[in-house]
Amino acid sequence: MSFFCIPIVCGVTQWDKQYDPQVYSIYCPNCHNYSVGPVKRREFISIWFIPLFPIYWGNQLRCPICQWRQDFKSREQLDRVVREQKNLAR
Ligand SMILES: [Zn+2]
Repeated sequence: MSFFCIPIVCGVTQWDKQYDPQVYSIYCPNCHNYSVGPVKRREFISIWFIPLFPIYWGNQLRCPICQWRQDFKSREQLDRVVREQKNLAR
């Protein structure tokens, strides 16, 4: 009989899904580009690449250039940010 020691591969799986393709050019306070868009973000602890425990489940504003992120809770909050942005641009 032989004994194999199999290491448990444990990690974090994360992915962003598009939240609203209509909203994509919000000002980024970090890198000053109009590149921020909303995403649905999911993060899971995964073992053997199988997502098991959610550690983050929510919506975020994300800048693809500098990776800046900020949580937002609701569609209403997102709309308010977009409205404020339009006022700034004028
Ligand atoms: Zn940025």
